[in-house]
Parts: sequence; structure tokens; C-alpha cells
Amino acid sequence: MRREKTCLGPDEIPIREGFFVFPSRNDGSPRLIGSKCRQCGDVVFPKRKLCTMCDSKELMEEVFIGEKGVLQTYTIVRVAFPNFEAPYILGLVELPEAENLRVLAQIEGCDLDRVRIGMPLALTIGKIKTDPATGKTVIGHKYRPIHEPGPPARAG
Ligand SMILES: [Zn+2]
Repeated sequence: MRREKTCLGPDEIPIREGFFVFPSRNDGSPRLIGSKCRQCGDVVFPKRKLCTMCDSKELMEEVFIGEKGVLQTYTIVRVAFPNFEAPYILGLVELPEAENLRVLAQIEGCDLDRVRIGMPLALTIGKIKTDPATGKTVIGHKYRPIHEPGPPARAG
């Protein structure tokens, strides 16, 4: 089974505080940190204090979400911003925790010609880019296919 990252290394920084949690010891999956409305039940990512769906005055509750998702649409980025390694797949991932809950994330572990809309995905934590100021690796949430493609066909 694939081993997920469980902490930041010395040369790594998170893309932003409060976006994700690493897998805990008894649960092998990372999670995104979202917010759930105590009144209407809507779930959002990234987390926020107040619900904009129902304008409830009650503070939203922090929830761990996004372990699994489905690829709703994607683009292949061939000319990237500086410090990103192109080409890569940028996907819009639909999450099951609420209606219309989507996360934009890089898709890793998938050949560019094997990506398809509707593919089931699992959250993973990995390299997003290199930080230009420090040279450190910026770590963030990404998704990968749940059924990883088999070994590449042998050449020749
Ligand atoms: Zn609400």
C-alpha cells in the first residue's frame, strides 16, 4: 500500500496554514480542513467562520473532508507559472460532503493521456511547487487516481 506523507520535512513548507491535516497514526488518509454550517449543513473549503448560503449568525464548525473525490473537469498545464513543474494536470475535484463542493488541485500519479472526467480520486499531500524566496518545497493538497494505472508497457 502507498505510504502517505505524515509530516513536513526540514526543506518543506505548507502552501498555507489550515488547508489540510496529515494522516493520523490510526487513519492512513490526509484530510482537507473545511467548515460546516450548523444551520443549513453546507460544507465549504477552505474553512471560514460564517455561512454565506443561509447567513446563519452561528459560527461554522471545523470538519475534515475531501478524502475522496471525483474528477469533474481538468486542464493540462503545459506552460506553468515560475516554480511549478510543467506539464501537470490541474483538476476540479467534486467532493461528496456537500452539493457543489469542489476543490481545485493538481492531479498526480496519472499519465496525461489517461486522465478522464469522472475518475475516482483520493486526497494526497505532496509537492506543489518550489518556493522562490527560500528554495523550499511547497507542500499542499493534491489528488491521485484511486485505481493507479498498471506498470508501463515494456518498450521494444
Ligand atoms: Zn448555512
